Amino acid sequence: MTATTTAPPLESGSVDVVRLMTDIAEKVSGPAADEVDRLGRFPSETIDALRADGLLWALVPREFGGLGATLSEVSEGLVALGRQCASSAMVVAMHHIQVACLVRHGTNDLLRSYLAEAVEHQYLLASATTEVGTGGDVRSSVCAVDVEGGTFRLEKQAPVISYGNFADGILVTARRSEDSPENDQVIVLCRPPDLELEQVGEWNALGFRGTCSPGFVLRASGDADAVLDQPYGDISTQTMLPIAHILWGSLWLGIATAALDRARRFVQAEARKRPGTTPAAALRLADVSALHQQFSDLVRGSVRRYEEIEGDGERLSAIGFAIGMNSLKVSASTLVVDVVRQCMVICGLSAYRLDGPYSLGRHLRDSMGAALMVNNDRIMGNNAQLLLVHRGE
Ligand SMILES: Cc1cc2nc3c(=O)[nH]c(=O)nc-3n(C[C@H](O)[C@H](O)[C@H](O)COP(=O)(O)OP(=O)(O)OC[C@H]3O[C@@H](n4cnc5c(N)ncnc54)[C@H](O)[C@@H]3O)c2cc1C
Repeated sequence: MTATTTAPPLESGSVDVVRLMTDIAEKVSGPAADEVDRLGRFPSETIDALRADGLLWALVPREFGGLGATLSEVSEGLVALGRQCASSAMVVAMHHIQVACLVRHGTNDLLRSYLAEAVEHQYLLASATTEVGTGGDVRSSVCAVDVEGGTFRLEKQAPVISYGNFADGILVTARRSEDSPENDQVIVLCRPPDLELEQVGEWNALGFRGTCSPGFVLRASGDADAVLDQPYGDISTQTMLPIAHILWGSLWLGIATAALDRARRFVQAEARKRPGTTPAAALRLADVSALHQQFSDLVRGSVRRYEEIEGDGERLSAIGFAIGMNSLKVSASTLVVDVVRQCMVICGLSAYRLDGPYSLGRHLRDSMGAALMVNNDRIMGNNAQLLLVHRGE
């Protein structure tokens, strides 16, 4: 299916990325969301629609053929997508995190020419950071890149690669060489035809079912220039980690917003049944609206915080910034569950049911994944260490 929208120019000559993503969310992703969840199938209609409008590589600057979109625009688009179909939004968020890494750090000739090709074909990029043996500790790897005669080789046991079977390329973390310690990592662009994925197991999960995230043994080779020049540690600190937390937070905000929409409609319907009285749940609605506002301000404030310093590697690498971006993830992943849970109490059985206009089963199940995507305990553990040496703002 292709998008029902086209890309009209704004006065500035740019494309209205937020409006296009919102249109796709409402017209394409929303109607398919329950089926995507029920069948645990890949949300291909959403990806096709984004692809048709050139939105998959929206973050790429215009000089390389992209739309030159800002992080705020993609973040707002993901709020809209998360509101309709969290699985679609998670796929799109994970893809954009990889795009941001390539745009900001893929500076050699091979990776720059890949960027132009990827924009033209609107490739979908996945990520393999998690590994058997290190689990969610993304800052250490077991596997290593073997570079010889200008060619790299790599094999990784990856317990989860979302949409691995649907991706056109994967950014993979690994040790720099066989002799490197576990935290001396690089990130490598792996792509067909020199990328082989041997699926291990199935993805039958509580939530984010449409991300289709089974395990794989990943084998890849290719031009050694597909290994990004900068150490993964810098790429992670300046780009992958903060942008992941911002974009995940955006789609989780979308889930919470959808739940709040349902709770508000429920209370308003109750009020219409008994004119002149305020339903008991209205107070709870006021309470959860305040919580949602905190969530919204947190995500939007964090986007601004990133954009203010995105060109300044030193400030992006500052301890205070890392603590802030880690805290964003832990707070956002907690708030999404809190908001959805409170909305469920407001709507009662109507939310507990798996059908009907106030059902919140899918939202609750999806929201539970947020705290596990790089476990909050690990992230808090990192912050605990950073705080031992942080000198304050
Ligand atoms: C929907 C979804 C999609 C995903 N997609 C991808 C993907 O595309 N690519 C990818 O690479 N990964 C992906 N992941 C993996 C994800 O990012 C995490 O890395 C993974 O879920 C962690 O797995 P785990 O919970 O088994 O392991 P762990 O992180 O090891 O956690 C297991 C337990 O050990 C505890 N623990 C272990 N070590 C520590 C420590 N040092 N400090 C504190 N607690 C600790 C944790 O708190 C937790 O209780 C996805 C996850 C989800 C939920």
